[in-house]
Amino acid sequence: MSSIRYQITPSNPEGHLLSIILTIPHNNTDGHVLTLPNWIPGSYMIRDFAKNVVCLKATCGGRAVPAKKVGKSTWQLAPNAGEVKVEYQIYAWDLSVRSAHVDQTHAFFNGTSVFLQVKGHDQEPLEVEICRPKGQAYRNWRVATTLPNKTAAVYEFGLYEASDYDELIDHPVELADFTLATFEACGVPHDVVLVGRHYCDMERLCSDLKAICEYQIRFFGEPAPMARYVFMTYVTENAYGGLEHRASTALHCARQDLPLAKNRSKPVSENYQKYLGLCSHEYFHTWNVKRIKPAQFLPYELENESHTELLWFFEGVTSYYDDLILLLSERINETTYLKTLARTITQVWRTPGRAQQTVTESSFDAWTKFYKQDENAVNAIVSYYTKGSLVALALDLKLRLVTAGKKSLRDVMAILWRDYGQKQMGVPEQGIHAIVNSVAGEDLNEFLDTMLYTTEDVPLADLLREFGIALEFRPKVNSTDRGGNAIDSSECDDIIDFGLNYKSHPLGVELVHVFSNRAAQHAGLSTGDKIIAMDNLQVTASNFDSYCQRFAPGEIIKVHAFRRDELMTFDIECRTAEPDTAVLTLTESGPSELGKAWLDMA
Ligand code: ZN
Repeated sequence: MSSIRYQITPSNPEGHLLSIILTIPHNNTDGHVLTLPNWIPGSYMIRDFAKNVVCLKATCGGRAVPAKKVGKSTWQLAPNAGEVKVEYQIYAWDLSVRSAHVDQTHAFFNGTSVFLQVKGHDQEPLEVEICRPKGQAYRNWRVATTLPNKTAAVYEFGLYEASDYDELIDHPVELADFTLATFEACGVPHDVVLVGRHYCDMERLCSDLKAICEYQIRFFGEPAPMARYVFMTYVTENAYGGLEHRASTALHCARQDLPLAKNRSKPVSENYQKYLGLCSHEYFHTWNVKRIKPAQFLPYELENESHTELLWFFEGVTSYYDDLILLLSERINETTYLKTLARTITQVWRTPGRAQQTVTESSFDAWTKFYKQDENAVNAIVSYYTKGSLVALALDLKLRLVTAGKKSLRDVMAILWRDYGQKQMGVPEQGIHAIVNSVAGEDLNEFLDTMLYTTEDVPLADLLREFGIALEFRPKVNSTDRGGNAIDSSECDDIIDFGLNYKSHPLGVELVHVFSNRAAQHAGLSTGDKIIAMDNLQVTASNFDSYCQRFAPGEIIKVHAFRRDELMTFDIECRTAEPDTAVLTLTESGPSELGKAWLDMA
């Protein structure tokens, strides 16, 4: 019997529509059940992709087959004898890496947004015919995807295939007149695809990515687990984000994050580092979460939320290594790495929510909390990415310390890869502890449990000191201060901080966050309030920081602010800023032998 086949065409790019014809060769005396996933692996939120299905109809031998909606993402077809054709359209106008987006310039889609699953047939091989939109405007479009080619030539429209539904939805597809460059990493072909207007130095990008990819392939051990890999990036004014897949990643970046040819001999800029860090992150997921997976994700259950306490590991460890590997693959130097790390520490220390939620709770509740952050999130939750990366750092340092430098977190990853990833076994919820203890040669349960199941701060200062690195905290000096750099201690004296974040507003400044138990909250100010004056003088985004520093600790200042359209007054106490801004420096004696080994310093 022939395979289930999908034919997909950007039939109306201007109207953001994809047309799909699903051909099911199987008879079904009860009628086929068709479903679309409610979420996409890697992005832990119910997104109800079926809401974008337009006008679904089924036929068999030219006669209509009734299709009844029996759930928000499920259709029940009437019984059929003979091949069934299901035709439907998808409205694709979500500019994100998680869904589908179609216009005159490109068509991007994830399988989770477009391919209805035929219940009971999800383990069977499937075929996908990707068709070019009609019209001269699309004659230069090509196809970027890691879906295996059946009869289609590489980069060409035509017939692709997947061994089962799980594979079908794990290869996003980009159709456009895109920029394409290629390189090999440890013998594996890698494509770099850029869509959108850009000025990227492709030669530099390929050489930096090659170094990062080769480091990671060797980190887990050759051969790489994929036959080829594609980095597909949509370039816009100010976007940032990515989603991992088994042999590719879909990314969004800002135009200014890409390198320019005229800067080729210069060090990696801060913007470019952000993009390389994102590429490094998603590439690391090729092993850590796409192949080494929580048992909860084997198989993915795509109808409802799938809870795991382990996201701190899969996102945190990946976040730890994404930046560290920029250093270890010689894209950035130690000074830049320590500055980047200090900024991550600063992010966590500026989150009052870290005293309210553990990193395992954050993982479990990703669906309703981390992915649905409101104005109070900063006070109520902690990120399993950033705190998870600090747990990973502490674990790496601790393992190096207790084994006198013989072992590290890399040995934990090697065991996970050997015993779970390569065997396609899921990691049990409590599975990390035993592996850590076996690498350490001693019981580190208490060390690990304190970081995972309590809200105590990760004990980084003590650990880093053993590596010859000093972690110190100073106050935030202004609203653009992200930490990482030392400031003369006299400049840190008596800095006034009200415990708020703001953005510019035509009337003055609008409050974005009001931190728990700080001056602004005690005064009664709330997120969304527009401060127009302090001490009866007008404030703006450009003078707010310096204005706050006119006052002395203990003074009470009158604040005028609009809440919605009501003018209100508040008395705010001037308090000194808390030391929540991290700085990492090499101690005077320099890094210890352990420190040199950790940062790979000659
Ligand atoms: Zn990630």
